[in-house]
Amino acid sequence: MKSSRVFAIISLFLTLLLSVSWATANNSSHEGFLECLESHSEPSNPISAVLYTPENSSYSAVLKSYIRNLRFNESTTRKPQLILTALQVSHIQAAIVCSKIHGLQMKIRSGGHDYEGVSYVSDVPFFILDMFNFRSVNVSIENETAWVQVGAIVGEVYYRIAEKSNVHGFPAGVCPTVGVGGHFSGGGYGNMMRKYGLSVDNIIDAQIIDVNGRILDRASMGEDLFWAITGGGGSSFGVVLAYKIKLVRVPSTVTVFRVTRTYEAKLDEYRLQLPASCRQVA
Ligand SMILES: Cc1cc2nc3c(=O)[nH]c(=O)nc-3n(C[C@H](O)[C@H](O)[C@H](O)COP(=O)(O)OP(=O)(O)OC[C@H]3O[C@@H](n4cnc5c(N)ncnc54)[C@H](O)[C@@H]3O)c2cc1C
Repeated sequence: MKSSRVFAIISLFLTLLLSVSWATANNSSHEGFLECLESHSEPSNPISAVLYTPENSSYSAVLKSYIRNLRFNESTTRKPQLILTALQVSHIQAAIVCSKIHGLQMKIRSGGHDYEGVSYVSDVPFFILDMFNFRSVNVSIENETAWVQVGAIVGEVYYRIAEKSNVHGFPAGVCPTVGVGGHFSGGGYGNMMRKYGLSVDNIIDAQIIDVNGRILDRASMGEDLFWAITGGGGSSFGVVLAYKIKLVRVPSTVTVFRVTRTYEAKLDEYRLQLPASCRQVA
């Protein structure tokens, strides 16, 4: 047998061996991660009911339901090893603890509107902690406040406030499907910005689960962390559960209109503002 053929057979054998051992190691670490989640969840709230692996028939639908940028929904896009649609705080705590133990990257997703898909795309093996089940909005008109969970979308926030009062509102984004988790942790601008500022200018408390699985509020997390999760983006600091917002007062009737102008009309307007001597060159 020629030496080049022997070399080719050995290379093929080594490649196969490496692929099999990589797949076995990957599989066993995946199994270990699942076992870790099971062992860290409460028997009364089994975590298995909210886990979706690629073998599960609903995996694809759950993954896509909060992919808001279809550029990241290609067959070539790396997919999560698992999606955990948390229903209980204990599910989130288990996710945090086990991702640390097994070194599996955790992506937190609320409304999935991140422009770069960072809540559901990664270059390394990862899983998604999906927060869409945490979506209660509890409004107190008496105190002019509301506790809003991160999985709610801003349209739900406006709706729940309007159900209780037609003279209260909250300054946040124009797009109703943007999620509270990413929007409030990152800033939040919208139509009421001139009068009331950003969403984060009207946030008065928050609940977060930190890297050790502890639930903290503003008093226990401290002002530095509170400052970070009201503008600095949430995912670097922990899993935000909810924000307490200060409602703002609005008139009972608001007129909304849109003015459209052509580029030429805008240019004419601009020219008229110039001194006559400049109009020829503009
Ligand atoms: C169509 C569209 C319209 C938009 N309109 C507006 C607008 O009018 N005004 C405006 O200000 N912005 C607007 N945005 C931007 C939007 O506010 C941000 O992209 C925001 O981060 C989306 O939040 P999300 O929860 O939907 O996204 P996600 O993709 O779920 O999350 C965004 C980021 O926040 C992190 N994150 C999410 N939830 C949590 C959590 N619970 N704890 C910790 N970290 C978390 C994620 O990991 C990710 O890094 C718009 C975006 C889109 C796509």
